[in-house]
Amino acid sequence: QILVIGSANADHVMKFEYLPAAGQTLMSRDYRLEQGGKGANQAVACARLAKSGTRTDFICHLGQDSIGDDMRQSWIKDGISTEGISQIAEQSTGTAMIFIGDNGENTIGVAAGANATLSPDDLENHYALFSRAQFLLIQLETPAATVAKALQMAKTFGVTTVLNPAPATALGHDVLKWVDVITPNETEAEALTGVEINHLDDAQMAAQLLHQQGVGIVVITLGSRGAYISSPGFTGLVPALEVQAIDTVAAGDTFNGALVVGLSEGMSIAAAVGFANAASAITVTRQGAQRAIPYRQELSY
Ligand code: ADP
Repeated sequence: QILVIGSANADHVMKFEYLPAAGQTLMSRDYRLEQGGKGANQAVACARLAKSGTRTDFICHLGQDSIGDDMRQSWIKDGISTEGISQIAEQSTGTAMIFIGDNGENTIGVAAGANATLSPDDLENHYALFSRAQFLLIQLETPAATVAKALQMAKTFGVTTVLNPAPATALGHDVLKWVDVITPNETEAEALTGVEINHLDDAQMAAQLLHQQGVGIVVITLGSRGAYISSPGFTGLVPALEVQAIDTVAAGDTFNGALVVGLSEGMSIAAAVGFANAASAITVTRQGAQRAIPYRQELSY
């Protein structure tokens, strides 16, 4: 069983010829409301990619609003267990306003809303979920103290912990000592270690620094190149699939969900990363966040 903890956001996405400047009002080409947020995307990836019979739980805080209701309903359809999902009075569901220019530039404002209210104490209500879990998957869009407490609680329950350290930030030994598997992209690996990732040698140097902090398995995702693994069992690059990418939103989230599903099925780390590359290669060929994430039957695994 897989326990995901993290954020849920309603992404309001508008596309413009060029980004509006301060004081300017512009008509957008296009508007979409997307269900996103790293935690929710990863929970959806786990639920869609796991074999039937594997339970995915998701601990998150939504607002008591219509978008929160819609998210809960669509997650139930995906097979996510709702025990850990709370809708908080007088809070709005996390919201992101995303402006994208034709040249690919973007401007983003985020209101954490209910996500910011997921406190360390709230985790105490979910001992049952921790005790049932085999894996914990968590990211950094929830308050830092909650992330630290979740990792620590998971270790006391004997749960294997997987940290996707996104968005990019530095983390100390006080957090990393609870992490079994870490999955930064290139930017996040640099924020964690100070090593700029250009070549595989750089990835190995960054991984070494994370091993020194007590992290056993380091997986650095490298976009269209695939992912670099540094682990006791396997070290090296697992190449991505060659596809025509049209939208890389939720690629990393699909990768993380798939990686944990693979590990929970007893795959080796190299095999689980191969599975994660295959799943996220499908996501990048589709528009959108959660709606782009594939189902298990789309993969030949
Ligand atoms: P993030 O989206 O978190 O920045 P990456 O860009 O490293 O993370 O992408 C995560 C994973 O998604 C990669 O390791 C790879 O498996 C897959 N991926 C991303 N971009 C592509 C692409 N253009 N073609 C194929 N796979 C891709």
